[in-house]
Amino acid sequence: MKKILCMLTAALTLIACNNAGKQTPVDDGIDYATFEYKVDRFADIEILRYPVPGFNALTLQQKELVYYLSQAALEGRDILWDQHNRYNLTIRRVCEGLYENYMGDKSTENWKLFETYLKQIWMANGIHHHYSEDKILPGFPQDYFVSIVKSVDPGRMPFRDGMAADETLKEILPVMFDPNVMPKRMNQAAGADIVATSAVNFYEGVTQKEVEAFYNAKKDPNDNTPISYGLNSKVVKENGQVTEQVWKLGGMYDKAIERIIGWLEKAEAVAENNQQKEIIRALISFYQTGDLETFDDYSVKWVKDTESRVDFINGFIETYTDPLGLKGSWEALVNFKSLEASERTRVISENAQWFEDNSPIDDRFKKEEVKGVSAKVITAAILGGDTYPATPIGINLPNADWIRRDHGSKSVTIDNITFAYAKAAEGNGFREEFMWSDTERERAKQYGTITDNLHTDLHECLGHGSGKLLPGVDGDALKAYGSPLEETRADLFALYYLADPKLVELGLLPDEEAYKTEYYSYVMNGAITQLTRIQPGKDIEQAHMRNRALISNWVIEKGAANNVVAMQKRDDKSYVVVNDYEKLRQLFGELLTEVQRIKSEGDYEAGKNLVETYGVKVDPTLHQEVLTRYETLNIAPYKGFVNPVYKLVTDEKGKVTDVTVSYDENYVDQQMRYSRQYSVLPLKN
Ligand code: ZN
Repeated sequence: MKKILCMLTAALTLIACNNAGKQTPVDDGIDYATFEYKVDRFADIEILRYPVPGFNALTLQQKELVYYLSQAALEGRDILWDQHNRYNLTIRRVCEGLYENYMGDKSTENWKLFETYLKQIWMANGIHHHYSEDKILPGFPQDYFVSIVKSVDPGRMPFRDGMAADETLKEILPVMFDPNVMPKRMNQAAGADIVATSAVNFYEGVTQKEVEAFYNAKKDPNDNTPISYGLNSKVVKENGQVTEQVWKLGGMYDKAIERIIGWLEKAEAVAENNQQKEIIRALISFYQTGDLETFDDYSVKWVKDTESRVDFINGFIETYTDPLGLKGSWEALVNFKSLEASERTRVISENAQWFEDNSPIDDRFKKEEVKGVSAKVITAAILGGDTYPATPIGINLPNADWIRRDHGSKSVTIDNITFAYAKAAEGNGFREEFMWSDTERERAKQYGTITDNLHTDLHECLGHGSGKLLPGVDGDALKAYGSPLEETRADLFALYYLADPKLVELGLLPDEEAYKTEYYSYVMNGAITQLTRIQPGKDIEQAHMRNRALISNWVIEKGAANNVVAMQKRDDKSYVVVNDYEKLRQLFGELLTEVQRIKSEGDYEAGKNLVETYGVKVDPTLHQEVLTRYETLNIAPYKGFVNPVYKLVTDEKGKVTDVTVSYDENYVDQQMRYSRQYSVLPLKN
């Protein structure tokens, strides 16, 4: 299974936007001089705010469409919470009940720790860290929690099915406080039953073997256009038989899906064109039936629509959170095309075949014809489900291999999110601490934004779409290593081409010096600075982090001998030093060739070996050093976002006359409002 929603999350390497003239959005009623990008800061998280440049310039019909799709995007929030763990909704609602109703002393350290915990689980859409997958352990003691729960009028608390406080507590206390109960949202440890030991709510009472047998029995090896088996269901046992509970109207998550459909119907009525109407209609039909062939039909229609200004994602899409890579986490994103910035990706897409033909990979693995690489730069209007509060900066969909093969894929770079990241990172001292010299810092200042964006574009528009499997090779052959290796492949494709004179020729880069800043930042991040996201003693788990570590550690090992790139110490601090950028490019090319071979041939052993050798283990001494250096900078390793608030303006007859956007809601208010407004699922599903 291809996993391609790219959590590039370049927040760590993003460079302040000093040359972002082209990115600075049009005059749009947003006062950028006073726009507050920073909203909240707690634990390892910083919450930011993003502007939506261009919204006011949309037509009334487009604005209305954005509004209804935004509502549909927010209605699925609780589906994701429940997918992440079956106790999440209970825990969140009890905590929110406390937050609203506790009348005791709120100046104590324990209360502050409780507030932090609530903010953390909001960020993660559940009790497991959004990135590390580890359970977030409360900083306050269990006794304290019990005492404040019991101090609140039970009538004001959301105890399940009339259960008393004691019963609810008995159920959730071990889940919250015992480090051995459901410690990981997704467990990938080699040798473990990754289904039984993962805390996600995709499976209950079944083993990995049973689930694999269940789906293998459904697969037809001769089916050239297979549905995405298992994408929209939970697997359980009923009367000793393995079976699926499907997420659809009338099925699991019925109440939330009913409301999503309601908003989609309103959206359909104001769609920009017939094609878009049909797309929305197909999605509604999928939600009504749960039929995965209908989902493919929707996906094909969706990928073909490259003309509508407004676009959206809404549904069970990415499979990162499922240890078996089958189950789609609910996510949503509403966006509209950023017209000027899309010029960049248009140029890339138009030259897709040239890039494929000139890639260093073996000719046997090249696509003779690169199909339908559609790419655009978009402005996010609302983030929902799995894209909120933590959000990707680039997306490439759909995921089904055969749809990509026969119909191509749609690839987007989300400019206003990248822009907000960069603005919030200005002057944080990161470059001074981690870059080797002023040369790297000056380059970063000059070229950082453009090369960072271009890396994302190349990764998304071309990287994932390039290359092909040899006939008869199973797309799932690399199993748990498939996802990090796929990201590795796309990143290497981008890195390799960033240094190509073709980019200067196409006007995408200003000169042949620019790429060096991305090379430097990439290896520095992969080998050093991204370690700040790992807890002491833990391995690297997340697919994109594994991929960055893999590439960086590999080139450092191969490049040290002839002084191409190395880790060097100065004043007991570790730095990446690049001495020969051209040879570094050759190394990226070599690794790309090998990773493409692994994918095309389905060479599981070689893939496993690469990931386990370079992408998983952390040097504890270096790790501690990075954590210490980061601490002095006080930069949050993870960023999340609050959404803007859209309001319909109507005349006395109830006719919509405008849609307004505002940026004044804070993180706590937004989360509490979402919980009041978009929370219709029962506590346990
Ligand atoms: Zn990717």
